[in-house]
Order: sequence, then structure tokens, then C-alpha cells
Amino acid sequence: MNRIDRELSDALPQPKGPFTDAEALELLMAYRKDPSNVPCPMCGPGNIEVLAFIEPQIDPNGFASVTDPEGEYAAALYCHKCFRAVGILAGVGREEG
Ligand SMILES: [Zn+2]
Repeated sequence: MNRIDRELSDALPQPKGPFTDAEALELLMAYRKDPSNVPCPMCGPGNIEVLAFIEPQIDPNGFASVTDPEGEYAAALYCHKCFRAVGILAGVGREEG
């Protein structure tokens, strides 16, 4: 384990699996309420980190481009306790009318 920790020290964390759809929805609602306080549905507050802001459209190969948190964007969230990651559509589309 220590050997792996050392190799990961300057790389992004490696997710252990996805969140469920229901958990992703909880994360999305919490993020929209307060982006700085997003609790993990399983592990509670203080574990979720926003890894990056990415384009809402992920290309067919699964690669996401990093973008600015303006307009429509997605946030890549990562839980440091259950080691899961999810991308949520965080930017609210501008709707008029
Ligand atoms: Zn968690």
C-alpha cells in the first residue's frame, strides 16, 4: 500500500467507482445550494473535493475538457473517504421567459 501511495502522491486520485444516480442527484443539489459545502451521501461533509471544472459534453471516448466555472459547465467531484468520483452538471443554463 505504501508503495502505491508514493506513486499517487503527485497524480490525481484514482476513483474506486461511480456514485449511483440517486447519490449524484444529492451531490448536485448540495452543490447548487453551496458549492463549498457538498457532503458525500455516504461519508458526510468534509470529504468531497471539486477536482476540476469540465465541459458538460464529454466526448465519446470519455475524455472531458477542463473549462472555467462559468455558464454551462460540469464539476468533477471526488470523495476522499469512499474514493468515488462523479461529474455533475453544475452550471445552470440561462433560461429566459
Ligand atoms: Zn464518500
